[in-house]
Amino acid sequence: MKQKLGQNFLIDKRVAEREVEYTGIENNDVVLEIGPGQGILTRLLAEKAKRVIAIEIDKNLIGNLRSSIPENVELIHDDALKIDFETLPKFNKIVSNLPFQISSPITFKLLDYNFELAVLIYQKEFADRMIATPGSKDYSRLSVGVYYKTKCELLETIPKTCFKPQPKVDSCAIRLIPRKHPPFSLNNEQFFFELTKNLFNHRRKKIKTTLKEFYNINLEKVPYLDKRVENLTPKQIGEISNILCDIDV
Ligand code: SAM
Repeated sequence: MKQKLGQNFLIDKRVAEREVEYTGIENNDVVLEIGPGQGILTRLLAEKAKRVIAIEIDKNLIGNLRSSIPENVELIHDDALKIDFETLPKFNKIVSNLPFQISSPITFKLLDYNFELAVLIYQKEFADRMIATPGSKDYSRLSVGVYYKTKCELLETIPKTCFKPQPKVDSCAIRLIPRKHPPFSLNNEQFFFELTKNLFNHRRKKIKTTLKEFYNINLEKVPYLDKRVENLTPKQIGEISNILCDIDV
């Protein structure tokens, strides 16, 4: 078991069956699985989907996997963070019991890909940040990004006893469904995400303090200057972003 690769394998088949159930797989679906490990999810996915593309970084797991997975699984030995998803066969659903070390970068990477639905297992602490709302301690740039791009639903808490070796904390299953239309309009999405990052890097400072530090502009028209970002909704951050874009920072 490689700790640095987040190898906490799911050992409760009922949990694996439920994750596949939440995905609502049909026989024309192509599913991407990140980190198949010993294949507990992979085999169940392959029973229902047309095709499964499984990316595993650990070459020591690849041999066993190859001999135990059905023909409709394409096993790729690579790093899911580095591989360009556009070079893979087109997939529409994603399932993963994610290695916790890559939770953040892989989530932001997935949010940029055009998929239909994802069911992902995260450590509970990370899942709490994904679904957090303004005013809570877990509210973060991740919460804002996930809210803007998807409808995010907590499906269940999975006790740590369902994994081997047992991690220190419980996990959660999350379903992400990308929004067809953004929840509010933005003049410049990229600017909005940069602004959100800058504001949350100074979450305890007033908006005006952070803006003065980053943008050399007249803040007269900017709303919420005396608030802190941790208390602003994503839409309110969007309002600030749109005004800053108008001022052309
Ligand atoms: N899906 C299996 C399960 O549910 O038991 C394994 C899940 S385990 C939490 C995470 C898996 O992701 C491990 O097999 C690990 O080797 C693999 N992994 C870690 N980092 C990876 C990366 N960057 N790209 C692809 N696979 C990775």
